[in-house]
Amino acid sequence: MAANASGHLNGPYFSVDLHLHTNRGSSDSNLALVDLAARAHTIGIGAVCITEHDTMWDLREAPALGRDSGLLFLRGMEVTTDMGHIGVFGLEHYIGGIYKLAELRKIADRTGALLVANHPFRYKLDPRFSFINPDHEPIDAGYPDRAAKLRIFELVDAIEVLNGACSEDENLFALKVARHLGMPEVAGSDSHSMGSVGCVTTLLDGPVADERELIDSIKARRCRAGRGLLQNALTPFDLPA
Ligand SMILES: [Zn+2]
Ligand SMILES: [Zn+2]
Repeated sequence: MAANASGHLNGPYFSVDLHLHTNRGSSDSNLALVDLAARAHTIGIGAVCITEHDTMWDLREAPALGRDSGLLFLRGMEVTTDMGHIGVFGLEHYIGGIYKLAELRKIADRTGALLVANHPFRYKLDPRFSFINPDHEPIDAGYPDRAAKLRIFELVDAIEVLNGACSEDENLFALKVARHLGMPEVAGSDSHSMGSVGCVTTLLDGPVADERELIDSIKARRCRAGRGLLQNALTPFDLPA
């Protein structure tokens, strides 16, 4: 257990919102940092990860934020790649060429970074949205084993099986694929405004103090997806019985 973790424990879990955009680094967000800090405090979350689009926060800023607010802020980024949006933890900054996921994988292998397939099935189960994904026919939701063979899952370490902006069907299908592959399951709100911060969270077995401990916990599968923190009813995300 980390000695200097600053966040809250929620029952048996240390909950982390792994996927958030602020108006500092994401032009599509209206979530101000000061509001994020206040909100995170109110809901009693363990840690929040700021993951702007294609840009990493400066190393010195996140700890200072944490000191000011008494919260644990962790740095990641959401990289737009040729195989979709990838959550990246453990890189210091954006590196040219990582829009190709195979290249990002090589760099992650060299540096120990963690790669997460973010919302891998958003819009992809619905034929009406197939124009968004011109390379693929809509994915047949009856066959998670087929979707598990998509190349993206060979190149990431974990799957975001619960995304606050995805439909229940998209999330459940991602969970089935993760279970089929035996890969780590994580969750993030994908918040761009204050109300949804922490609506879904990654549940860790214990506190972490920094990005390295977060990465180690997820790679070791000491994590799962959950929701209900905002209702005081934190529940792991599971397939219907
Ligand atoms: Zn995304
Ligand atoms: Zn996002």
